[in-house]
Amino acid sequence: MATHCVNFCASSFDAKPSSSGSHSRVEKKWLGSIALDRKPKNLKLSNGCRARAALNADSIPIEIPRQWYNLIADLPIKPPPSLHPKTFEPVKPEDLSPLFPDELIKQEASGERYIDIPEEVREIYKLWRPTPLIRAKRLEKLLDTPARIYYKYEGVSPAGSHKPNTAVPQVYYNAQQGIKKVVTETGAGQWGCSLAFASSLFGLECEVWQVRASYDQKPYRKLMMQTWGAKVHPSPSNITESGRKILLMDPSTPGSLGIAISEAVEVAAMNADTKYCLGSVLNHVLLHQTVIGEECLKQMEAIGETPDLIIGCTGGGSNFAGLSFPFIREKLDGKMSPVIRAVEPSACPSLTKGVYRYDYGDTAGMTPLMKMHTLGHDFIPDPIHAGGLRYHGMAPLISHVYELGFMEAISIPQTECFKGAIQFARSEGLIPAPEPTHAIAATIREALKCKETGEAKVILTAMCGHGHFDLPAYDNYLQGNLVDLSFEDEKLQAALGSVPNVGS
Ligand SMILES: *Cc1c(COP(=O)(O)O)cnc(C)c1O
Repeated sequence: MATHCVNFCASSFDAKPSSSGSHSRVEKKWLGSIALDRKPKNLKLSNGCRARAALNADSIPIEIPRQWYNLIADLPIKPPPSLHPKTFEPVKPEDLSPLFPDELIKQEASGERYIDIPEEVREIYKLWRPTPLIRAKRLEKLLDTPARIYYKYEGVSPAGSHKPNTAVPQVYYNAQQGIKKVVTETGAGQWGCSLAFASSLFGLECEVWQVRASYDQKPYRKLMMQTWGAKVHPSPSNITESGRKILLMDPSTPGSLGIAISEAVEVAAMNADTKYCLGSVLNHVLLHQTVIGEECLKQMEAIGETPDLIIGCTGGGSNFAGLSFPFIREKLDGKMSPVIRAVEPSACPSLTKGVYRYDYGDTAGMTPLMKMHTLGHDFIPDPIHAGGLRYHGMAPLISHVYELGFMEAISIPQTECFKGAIQFARSEGLIPAPEPTHAIAATIREALKCKETGEAKVILTAMCGHGHFDLPAYDNYLQGNLVDLSFEDEKLQAALGSVPNVGS
């Protein structure tokens, strides 16, 4: 199969479809599955082309980007600074240096429009990039919609989501600075897996604090982390001061992301050879994820499509920013005008129901204060199945872009999300992670609207991960045990009470 594939990449386009009589049977099948009515402009070959050809309906080989894109450079108003948690003064680079390597601190505050992707990082990206852009023809048919639906699929990475796009450069910059160990928190385990994978490639030690409830109930991502050589602790643990404190109060606590962050941050702050990594929310994380959108722009251009609507799910906001920011640049430049729409769970609606205020990133209030859409750092969402979408705040940069009016946001309840996920799985084949089911449900809503109006809109969706390790959520849905939890205003008001009175 691989031979035919290489063959296809090397020769099919100069062979022209009309002369396909000389092609082998397998090649004919391949040629039939791609859009040959459009001729590729810049046919470039890379290692990624085999995987792409296998999954891709319509796209044409493109290069992995050489630079990440920093949207801040193009914003008419710059986002407000993060504040020191004690002094409330803008955070200085040296405040962050116990936690992050210098290059990432620089990127966090950078005003440069483009930042070069190190060649070593690009080489590793080649394991799964460029990722496929797939036209969801069978879903379109199922919905009987005139809309053209495309999804950019990040589940082909070793960890199964978009998160390795930032885990790899984060570990790379730590390795460059001679750091020996990276530490982090993880909930369901997507981020912990990505960091464990990246650490294994650079020979760094990796230690992960996994929320106790997930550690006990979801063993597979823990086993993946251990397979990549990481040490995984249930959080709270008795290794840290903050963990011991919580355990003393409640020995059987299920833990939370906020507590796990405090533990990892404590360990990084106390050890000179150890740094902390975060999988979403921060500017440098959003920056690294822009490889998604940069690739997608080229892929859409190659097939002559321009999106009318771009949809992504938002937890901390990194996969959404990754896909949409390069398109926002094009929009600001007057080259296209897609509507950009974030989708969050109705049970954790930071953009649609939160306040835009300075708040802490963790429960204990150890992190800098960030101006963001927040439900309050005390907010604990109901145990819905949206895994990575249960963070109390939204990335400060996304929050700012939302305030500027460059994007919109909606929330969708989880049963509608899983209904859409089942339709998607049974038409497109891929089983989405619980997070992107929100984007899929919003896509289906829009496609059905197009059916009513007859509009042939081009909808682009971020399919940021597969759900192979989240099947208990599907089990719940299929058994009829998944319900929509109503979002109570009292709960929100109580949590908002924890937002500190800082800044404007
Ligand atoms: C972590 C995760 C998310 C949520 O994080 P963002 O920063 O909002 O992208 C969404 N989808 C998947 C598959 C994840 O692993």
